[in-house]
Amino acid sequence: MKVSFQIGKIMGIPIKLHITFLLILPVFALIFANNPAPYGFSNVSEVSTRYILAFATTLLLFSSVLLHEIGHSYFAKKFGVKIDSITLMLFGGVASMEEIPQNPAQEAKMAVAGPMTSFVIGAICLIFNNVLSDLQPFFSDTNIFHVIWLIGYINLIVGVFNLLPAFPMDGGRILRAWYAINMPYVKATQKAAQIGKMFAIMMAVLGVLANPWLILIAFFIYIGATEEARTTTVSVVLEKVPVRKIMSSNIISVQSSMTVDDLSKLMFEKKHMGYPVIDDNSLKGIVTFTDVLTVPTQERANVLVSDVMTKDVFTISADADSSEALKIISTQNIGRILVTDNNSIVGILSRTDLVRALQLLSE
Ligand SMILES: [Zn+2]
Repeated sequence: MKVSFQIGKIMGIPIKLHITFLLILPVFALIFANNPAPYGFSNVSEVSTRYILAFATTLLLFSSVLLHEIGHSYFAKKFGVKIDSITLMLFGGVASMEEIPQNPAQEAKMAVAGPMTSFVIGAICLIFNNVLSDLQPFFSDTNIFHVIWLIGYINLIVGVFNLLPAFPMDGGRILRAWYAINMPYVKATQKAAQIGKMFAIMMAVLGVLANPWLILIAFFIYIGATEEARTTTVSVVLEKVPVRKIMSSNIISVQSSMTVDDLSKLMFEKKHMGYPVIDDNSLKGIVTFTDVLTVPTQERANVLVSDVMTKDVFTISADADSSEALKIISTQNIGRILVTDNNSIVGILSRTDLVRALQLLSE
């Protein structure tokens, strides 16, 4: 299922809306419509006006979240980091980058840029609101001040919240950059993640005593810290290992004219889950156990490999870093990648191979 939709491009970066964003939009509008001033518009007597204001505030709020992400992306681009897209989702925005520079000064600048953008938007809105309030006698409708004030106020909160020293917040990255000045990147990440977890536990305790919402945020921070420490360790460990070293090199290829029935027999016999499809020395696709499962058992004798195989195949050079292979496998969400050397296929690398290598190497 398609979970996000592109709505446009800014600085050449595709801007996408995640399906969870479309679900949260009316929820936010409802909250704003039913909260009393100054955090909402329930005091506005006319119902339609109330909802228009609430909806406008929600849209402006998410536009400022988008600007926050653009703030990060601007510096990322400046440092040569490729940004695949910016996606607006349930918990705000996410700029997905190819890789975060392992250079403390650059990472810190990139991380600070987001909260700074939020602070600037916040300050502009609050100042603008003050100026407008002085001119109030000239305006008949003051609801617009209220919207501007609310956007300013929430942006300041977003800025502060993002500076919390815990992954996945920007503050966590700033903390890591600070540690990374004096220690290797993996160690700095682990240290920053530890602080983040301690912070999450403190927040959860506070949540039990004061506000249950904090428990939810604490949980989110704890998961974020664990995840960041894991992925960083993974990519650094795999960075220096060539694909050739961990791939399976005894590859068996199949022809596209083979029936799915024969293929499933081959799979049981050879115990491999994925096979390159090669006709006359040229690569046609890749076929896996999942493809076999799409065909009902009684029809497998009549369906050919060419009908079920995946035609656009990802390949990687045998001399590339394994972390590169992991990146392709996880961003493309595929189970295995074919390994080439001088245009011929020399092996196949699966998720399982990567996990096994990682277990061996991190010991
Ligand atoms: Zn941010």
